[in-house]
Amino acid sequence: MRRLTESPASESAARSPRVPVATASGPLLGIWAHPDDEVYLSAGLMAEARRAGHRVAVVTATRGEHGTDDPEAWPPNRLARHRTRELTESLRVLGVREHTWLGYADGALAVADRRRGVATVQHLIESVEPATIVTFGPDGMTGHDDHRTISSWVTEAWVRSRSDAALWYATLTPEFHHAWGRLNEKVGLWSAGSQPPVTPIADLAAQVVCSTDLLDRKHQALRAHASQTRALESLVGTETYRSWWAVESFVVAERAVIGTSARAGRDRLGSTCAGHPWLPRPASG
Ligand SMILES: [Zn+2]
Repeated sequence: MRRLTESPASESAARSPRVPVATASGPLLGIWAHPDDEVYLSAGLMAEARRAGHRVAVVTATRGEHGTDDPEAWPPNRLARHRTRELTESLRVLGVREHTWLGYADGALAVADRRRGVATVQHLIESVEPATIVTFGPDGMTGHDDHRTISSWVTEAWVRSRSDAALWYATLTPEFHHAWGRLNEKVGLWSAGSQPPVTPIADLAAQVVCSTDLLDRKHQALRAHASQTRALESLVGTETYRSWWAVESFVVAERAVIGTSARAGRDRLGSTCAGHPWLPRPASG
């Protein structure tokens, strides 16, 4: 497993196995459900890709207009406008200039027209021609229905497009769960009944360890989403908040195990692994 960004003097880095993997070389396309999904899970990856001179495009399915505990002060139209500005600023911090809204209603992706959603994502994949696509895994990270749905759309669109891009799912490592499990439970990160992802470091496609300047930028990009992040940072404290999301991990979506979410893929790929909570290692070859 190759770290895109080395964390000097990091104990976990010293313990990491070193195996060759694909890296984000060439255009990067991130496809997410809500404004802020992209920053928590891929800010470091995007910033590093931009630093390397690659095109980075981000797609967000909804404007997150229901993401508030105070809908009287923040009615959906007002919050949508606010979160639109927050996302623009956050991406600016990371050097990302290309962004597309899909225009879906927050919280309603699972009941949206799937065929249209998949077709739209497929069109985006075919026009950007990314080397790497990043999104949620089938678990949706936190188990949120919108996250799981966009994962499913992207996966099916990727299969249908026959794109050469690598599809990476955001994941977490056993070390993350060990370090942050209590905090994750305390803040209620996981939806009821959901199964958060876990992938051993040796099985990752890539891991971005944000430290020093890169961590400062990620923090600044997180803070740009203040409507979503300010209260959480105050609750846990700034140092904890920075460390909590400093490591970004990605696993390759294996075409052979995505049949449950991609009907086109099932026909093309043969056997499926329905019910597997996460991605099994590919069979040899
Ligand atoms: Zn989200």
